[in-house]
Amino acid sequence: MLKFSELDSKFHIVEKRGLCPVCGSNMTQTDRLKEGNNVFIWYKCINDECGGQRLQKQSAR
Ligand SMILES: [Zn+2]
Repeated sequence: MLKFSELDSKFHIVEKRGLCPVCGSNMTQTDRLKEGNNVFIWYKCINDECGGQRLQKQSAR
């Protein structure tokens, strides 16, 4: 099971959807995980050569 405290140190967790932190391209949702009252949504850069990803945290409400 994933520990989100470890994810915090690996990925930049943001409250709002944004652009790729690496190249600035748009991102596409790839996965979502529910943890307690939060939903973590993974985004992947649409640029295959970039490989950038980010994790968005939302309230589950
Ligand atoms: Zn990118």
